[in-house]
Amino acid sequence: MLSPRAPAQSLEMANQVTHSSEKPETILTHGGRNPADHFGFVNTPVYRGSTVLFPTLDAIEGRTQPYGYGRTGNPSTTDVEAVVTALEGAAGTRLAPSGLSAITTALMSVVGSGDDILVTDSAYEPTRNVCNTVLGRMGVSTRYYDPRIGAGIADLIGPDTKAVFVESPGSLTFEIQDLPAIADAAHKVGAKVLIDNSWATPLYFKPLELGADMVIHAGTKMFVGHSDAMSGTISANAATFEQLAATHRAMGICAAPDEAYLIARGLRTLSIRMQEHRRRALDIASWLEGQDGVAAVLHPALESHPDNALFRRDFSGSGSLFSVLLEPAPREAVAALVDNMRVFGMGYSWGGYESLILPTKPGRVRTAVPWVAEGNLLRLHIGFEDVDDLKADLSDGLERYRAARAG
Ligand SMILES: *Cc1c(COP(=O)(O)O)cnc(C)c1O
Repeated sequence: MLSPRAPAQSLEMANQVTHSSEKPETILTHGGRNPADHFGFVNTPVYRGSTVLFPTLDAIEGRTQPYGYGRTGNPSTTDVEAVVTALEGAAGTRLAPSGLSAITTALMSVVGSGDDILVTDSAYEPTRNVCNTVLGRMGVSTRYYDPRIGAGIADLIGPDTKAVFVESPGSLTFEIQDLPAIADAAHKVGAKVLIDNSWATPLYFKPLELGADMVIHAGTKMFVGHSDAMSGTISANAATFEQLAATHRAMGICAAPDEAYLIARGLRTLSIRMQEHRRRALDIASWLEGQDGVAAVLHPALESHPDNALFRRDFSGSGSLFSVLLEPAPREAVAALVDNMRVFGMGYSWGGYESLILPTKPGRVRTAVPWVAEGNLLRLHIGFEDVDDLKADLSDGLERYRAARAG
């Protein structure tokens, strides 16, 4: 059964091919595809299309066809939505053309003029940007809060607070947030809790089970997994999905079918990729802790991490990405390190098979809790190169850093 998304007015849940009792790896392998609908071909093809034809007046007025128009979905997109819905344990999922557009769509679906939202100070910087600019112009005010605030967020929540935005761990700085405590406080006043779950993926963290109302993924990262497509997903619980779907539809947000195909293909191997990313990243993170010139390694699965207990309580695994704080040194030392890497590439994004290094400056944007750590922060994404080659590359880089610092 294809059981696709029903046409526009219906809020029926997405594709039900997947049974919720199945384990994540079975969902990833079999979810959202039905070879019998495609002459036995294993993968759902790329449905490129705008117009969908209706045979009769009854059919076009009755809205009984599974698909009505390209923008509102086709099998390539609904199949991906079905997999993510099943993984997150959501009522439904919508695709967006990028992670950032998934975040903006999620926010737009819960706020209106005069409302106020609380956003973690550790949020991905473009999330802050849309809040400070577009949402601000629409009359929504944003306040930033300490990612480690936990139940204390109750003191910040006011009568106009409509949403609390969580990102755990935080971009660049990897604070773990107490999602259940935050959700409790938010729900007392009917505010919705939105979370960016790109780092852990639903394999290692299940925000809807811990009280979130909407879960966002930069599908560009782990879901696609090969640095070859942009995408975003938004999943919501039953109480929130209707408003999400309505806003998504009203704003005309849609994902390209070719990109949807790449997300579907990436998802099939998500679990085994995550296991390898996790193992390799942890290996390198703990090795880095002992290196000369390293002040701290910000990886929530390390015992040295201040939120390690919270991490172990709520997460079942860790991602590919962490940061390393180097002892203070001038900019030239950072340049000496990053300009001469042989294996690590320098660039934005993460989630692909290749390892990446990125110098970052979290202090530039923080407003709720100033970033006071001295030293240079580098974010690492650990891919699938040989771990010893990665360590050798970092080791040589650290030696250049120390030499430039001493010189
Ligand atoms: C990259 C990223 C996004 C945005 O995703 P795009 O697809 O690049 O728009 C959102 N959140 C986090 C945590 C990210 O790393």
